[in-house]
Amino acid sequence: MFTTALIKPDQTQPGALPLDLFAVIASLKKELNAVILAHYYQEPDIQDIADFIGDSLQLSKAAADTNADVIVFAGVHFMAETAKILNPDKMVLLPDVNAGCSLADTCPPDAFAEFKAAHPGHLVISYINCSAEIKAMSDIICTSSNAVKIVQQIPKDQPIIFAPDRNLGRYVMQQTGRDMVLWQGSCIVHETFSEKKIVQLKIAHPEAEAIAHPECEPAVLHHASFIGSTAALLKYCQQSPTQEFIVATEPGIIHQMQKAAPYKNFIPAPPMNNCNCNECPFMRLNTLEKLYLAMKNCTPEITMSEEIRLAALRPIQRMLEMSF
Ligand code: SF4
Repeated sequence: MFTTALIKPDQTQPGALPLDLFAVIASLKKELNAVILAHYYQEPDIQDIADFIGDSLQLSKAAADTNADVIVFAGVHFMAETAKILNPDKMVLLPDVNAGCSLADTCPPDAFAEFKAAHPGHLVISYINCSAEIKAMSDIICTSSNAVKIVQQIPKDQPIIFAPDRNLGRYVMQQTGRDMVLWQGSCIVHETFSEKKIVQLKIAHPEAEAIAHPECEPAVLHHASFIGSTAALLKYCQQSPTQEFIVATEPGIIHQMQKAAPYKNFIPAPPMNNCNCNECPFMRLNTLEKLYLAMKNCTPEITMSEEIRLAALRPIQRMLEMSF
C-alpha cells in the first residue's frame, strides 16, 4: 500500500537523491529552522519524520503556535493555505503543489458567492476543507472535530449556511437538531466506502467495531458505533477495550492507530470497486522525496493576496476562539 523511500542507491546520476532522506531532511530542517507538519493521511515515512502529526484542527493550532521560519506542510493545498493565512511572514512549502482536494474543488468561489446571495441573513459556517477564497466569504470555519460544538454556540434563531461537505453538514444537523442550508459538496474518498462490504466484514468479524469519519455517506455512518474526526477515531481506538476495528476513513490513519495500539487489528473499510479509491489520491501525491526537494529548493511555496488572507483569517480566528 505504501512505499518506503529511505534508500535511493543510484548516486551516480545527475540530480540523484541522497542516500538517507531522513538524515538530509533533518539537516535541512535545522538549516531552514523549519517545522514539518503532517496530516494523518500522509504516507508512513512522512508521518515518521514529521514534528507534528494531526487532523485539520490540530494542524491549524500547530501552525498558529510555531516559532519556525519555514512550515513544510505535508498535507493538501487548503491546509497549507490555512498555515499561510495564520503565518503571513513565514515561508509555507507544500511538497506537491498539485495536492488539492476533491471536496474543496466542489465549491468554486463564483458559484458560492451566488449561493450566499440567494440566502441573505444566513451565517456562513465553512468546513476547513475549502479554498482561501471560500474561507474569505465565511463567518466561521470549523473542522470535523469542532463542527458540532461551533454550531451549538450559534443562537437558535440565526439561520446557517453550512459548506462545502453535505455529509458532515447532515451529521451536524442530526447532532445539534439545527436546520441548516447545505452546500452539496462531498469528498471522493469518503463517498467510496461500500456499505455492502462493511456489512460483509462485520459478519466475518463479529467482534469488530465499525468506526467512521462524518464525511462518509449516511448509509456507512449507520453501521458505525463511533463517528468522529481522524483525531477522535485514533483516541477512541486507543481507549476502547475492543480489539478489532473496521475503519471508514482514509487508511493513512491506520499507521498511527497501529503504533498506538500494536496488538489491535485495524481493517480499512473497502471501497465499492476493486481499487485503491479509499486512499486519497491528493494526499498521496506528497512523498518523502518531494518533501526533501521542496526543502532543498524552497519551492513550491504557498502565496496569496493580502486581501484574501485577511478576509480568510477572521473566520479561522473565530474558530480557534470557539474551539476551547
Ligand atoms: S480525503 Fe477527501 S476531503 Fe480529505 S483531502 Fe482527500 S479529497 Fe479532500
